[in-house]
Amino acid sequence: MTTHADPVPGGRPGEVERAGALAAELAGQGVHGVVLAYVDTAGITRVKTVPVARLPDAVAWGVGMSPVFDTFLSDDSVVTTDVLGSPDGDLRLYPDLDRLVALAAQPGWAWAPVDRITQDGERHPGCGRTVLRRITAHARQRHGITFKAAVEIEWVLGRGTAPRGVFEPAVSGPAYGAVRQVEVSDYGADLLAALAAQAVEVEQFHPEYAAGQFEVSVGALDPVAAADRSVLVRQTVRAVAQRHGLRVSFAPAVLAQGVGNGGHVHLSAWRDGSNLHAGGSGRYGMTAEAESFAAGLLARLPALTAVTAPSPAGYLRLRPSQWAGVFTAWGRETRECALRVVTGTLGVRERASNLEVKPVDLAANPYLTLGALIAAGLDGIATRAPLPEETTGDPARLDAATAAARGVRRLPVSLAEAVEAFRRDTLLRDALGPVLADAVTAVRRGEIAAADGLDDEQVAAAYRWRY
Ligand code: GLU
Ligand code: MG
Repeated sequence: MTTHADPVPGGRPGEVERAGALAAELAGQGVHGVVLAYVDTAGITRVKTVPVARLPDAVAWGVGMSPVFDTFLSDDSVVTTDVLGSPDGDLRLYPDLDRLVALAAQPGWAWAPVDRITQDGERHPGCGRTVLRRITAHARQRHGITFKAAVEIEWVLGRGTAPRGVFEPAVSGPAYGAVRQVEVSDYGADLLAALAAQAVEVEQFHPEYAAGQFEVSVGALDPVAAADRSVLVRQTVRAVAQRHGLRVSFAPAVLAQGVGNGGHVHLSAWRDGSNLHAGGSGRYGMTAEAESFAAGLLARLPALTAVTAPSPAGYLRLRPSQWAGVFTAWGRETRECALRVVTGTLGVRERASNLEVKPVDLAANPYLTLGALIAAGLDGIATRAPLPEETTGDPARLDAATAAARGVRRLPVSLAEAVEAFRRDTLLRDALGPVLADAVTAVRRGEIAAADGLDDEQVAAAYRWRY
C-alpha cells in the first residue's frame, strides 16, 4: 500500500512520531543513512541522503534539492523550458515512509522514494511521482477503476575488470542457459536474498537472450508502489553486482546490434475487486472496458514512445524481431506485438490476467510511463474505443492491406519522430500537465541534439553506462 496523499509541511498527522520510531529501529539494525530517491525526466535516478537520525526532520520539512534536475539530460547537461531549468529555486524532498526499506545489499543504508513539493507546500508540477498519484486518484474517483502494475527488469552483467566504457559480458553461457545460471550462482542467490529481505516478491529470475543478460520479474502493486519498486530493484541489482565486482547496464541497447534491455510493463485495471481483463465476454475473457483500455493504448503508442523510450539508444532496441514490440498491434502471448494479452493459466485468470506493454525500456521514468499509459487506456475506456482484430505471428510480415485494416503501424524509428507525436498529443500532454510535458519535449530534444552525428555504435557506447 502506498500513501495516497501529498506531503504536508510539518508532516501528516502521526508521521513525524512514526519516523522517529522507524529511525530508532533502523539505527538499532545498524543503518546510518537514508537514501532519498526520485527519477528525473531523462530517467536518471537522483538522490540525496540524510543520516538516519534526520529522518523525522525530513518527514516534517523535507530535504532541499534544486528543481533544475527536471531538465537535466542523462549526461548531466541542462536544457531549459519556459519555467524549468533555471539555476534559481529549491524544492523539498519528502520521503514516503510506507515505502522505506533497509537496503540488504548496502549495509548501513535505508532507502525511500520521495515526493517533491515546493517550499510553500504546493505540489511541484515536475514531480512524476505526484503526477502518477494524481492520475491514479482520478481513475479511482472518476471511473471507479484501480490498477495493478509491475515493471520487468532486464540488465546485462559486465566484468568489473573491463577497460572503462567497455562491456565484457560477465558470463558466456547461452540464452536461458543452465551454464549461465551456474556462472552467476553466488550473485543470483545474493540478489534473491536481498530482494526478499526488502519484501520484494520475485516471481522469476533468469538468464535472458542477449550477451550477459538477466531478468527479474516481480509481483504487481498499485502503480505508484510498482514504480517505486522498479527503482528499488535496480538499486539492489546494482548494489549486489558491485559486491561481486560486476558492472550493470540497464541501457536500452548495450550494443548497437541485437536484442536490448526492456522494461516491459504489466498493467491490469480493476473495479470493485474484479479484474477487468478476466471473466468478460470479450476476446480472451476481456471485458468491454479492458478491450477499450487496450485500444486506447494502441492508438497512442507512437506518442507514448517519447515517454517509454526516452533515449536515442532506445531506438536501437526498438527494431522488428527483437521482442521489443514495435508495431501497434496486440495478440495473446505474442512476443512481437506492442501489446501482449496475458491470460495466465486456467485457474489463476481472475488474479493474473493483464496487459503487457513491450515498447518500454529502463531509461524511461517509471512514474511518467505508468501515468501516461494509464491516461491513454482510460481515454480508450471513456470513448469506448473498439479494439481491432488480433495479430498473430510477426506483424512485420503483415501485408499492407491487413495492417491498414487493423491500424497496425510501425512505432517511431527515432526519438525525434516520437517526440513530434508526443507534442501533438493533447491528451498525454494534459495528463502530465503543461510543465512536465514541456520538460519531456525539451529533454528529449536535448538528448537528440547530444547524440547528433553519432553512428549506432557511438550511440550505444554513449548511453551504455548511464542507466
Ligand atoms: N529483451 C527484450 C526487449 O528488449 C525482451 C525479451 C523478452 O521478451 O523478455 O524488450
Ligand atoms: Mg525478458
